Amino acid sequence: MSTVQQITVLGATGSIGLSTLDVIARHPERYAVFALSGFSRLAELETLCVQHRPRYVVVPDAAAAHALQGSLRAAALPTGVLVGEEGLCAVAAHGEVDCVMAAIVGAAGLRPTLAAVQAGKKVLLANKEALVMSGALFMQAVHESGATLLPIDSEHNAIFQCLPGDYGRGLQAVGVRRVLLTASGGPFRETPLAELERVTPEQACAHPNWSMGRKISVDSASMMNKGLELIEACWLFDARPEQIEVVIHRQSVIHSLVDYVDGSVLAQLGNPDMRTPIAHALAWPQRIDSGVSPLDLFAIGRLDFERPDEQRFPCLRLAREAAQAGGSAPAMLNAANEVAVDAFLQRRIRFSDIARMIEFVLNAESARAVEALDAVFEADRRARALAGEWLARH
Ligand code: NAD
Ligand code: MG
Repeated sequence: MSTVQQITVLGATGSIGLSTLDVIARHPERYAVFALSGFSRLAELETLCVQHRPRYVVVPDAAAAHALQGSLRAAALPTGVLVGEEGLCAVAAHGEVDCVMAAIVGAAGLRPTLAAVQAGKKVLLANKEALVMSGALFMQAVHESGATLLPIDSEHNAIFQCLPGDYGRGLQAVGVRRVLLTASGGPFRETPLAELERVTPEQACAHPNWSMGRKISVDSASMMNKGLELIEACWLFDARPEQIEVVIHRQSVIHSLVDYVDGSVLAQLGNPDMRTPIAHALAWPQRIDSGVSPLDLFAIGRLDFERPDEQRFPCLRLAREAAQAGGSAPAMLNAANEVAVDAFLQRRIRFSDIARMIEFVLNAESARAVEALDAVFEADRRARALAGEWLARH
């Protein structure tokens, strides 16, 4: 490659953001950091600015901007400080940016991720909530702008790698029978059901195989993460929910599989380290070193599979129902889940209340048609209000 690609990393202080910067730093001849964003941990954000010397950094508010500006000036850095959602959208869509890593967690990432899509960028999508909320509109924007959308979620990146280049013609047209979405089962795969009432945020965030942000760690423990991923896969690969089967595979070595009509099943394997899908998407269609150690099959020894238990993991059922209902249902599911996870992390509700609260919100109204982004944000607001009502009552 002749020119250095300019990369914006949204959510740079998070788990995915830091892994992305690790891969980028291994290839200074290919990639340069154009912009970084952070919402908390502003001291770490400053350190990242010193390391990567971005053109812009985006912080949540004027007070944070003022503080950071002072220290960047003292360090003689050329970095401009932008603020809030407007700043995030500006660095996502900037004319000099080639590629945007969308790694903000939750609904907060929707507008900036869409800004990157609408500007026709190469978009590396970690922020699955954005796609879950606005699926049809998001994919329509990808097609209209000609953006290149590459999945970072390890499962979706695996599926992408196992599909032929022309899968956009339709899964059936390229001979796919079904997609097998693997899940580790999280830390509570074998916890006695009665104990799930009492598990703590610390236990929920102690994932057996992956080190991740707190929200996605709780989602993995409830398997809402797999539910969101099911919806994500439907949009990315134009699949129906019935074409996707969830398989519990506790070693997290197979990252997902594609089952073809001739009986061939293709899988992508690797150590559970997000730098692999990040490096894959950054360099695609080429391959680059990610810093991930080679897979040692002899050390792994065996690979296990089991069917998920929807009684243990009701969030998986709720997500599948929302996927089938379509319209505003996935946005409501996502918003209710964000409120529930936050309340659980603050010890205001029990782990098993997460599914109860989401079910209450989804039962409160039937899915509505979503024709514009306003309707998505409206569904998000309604769901948060309903979840708040549930919280107030319990
Ligand atoms: P994290 O909590 O470690 O990082 C989140 C980032 O978003 C941080 O930089 C934070 O400052 C920023 N942020 C948080 N709230 C914000 C707000 N309101 N406005 C702007 N920025 C905000 O999370 P993570 O584990 O890195 O996950 C990021 C995204 O990637 C999530 O959507 C998650 O589902 C997805 N993902 C993560 C992993 C993983 O291994 N960590 C794997 C697959 C997908
Ligand atoms: Mg995943």
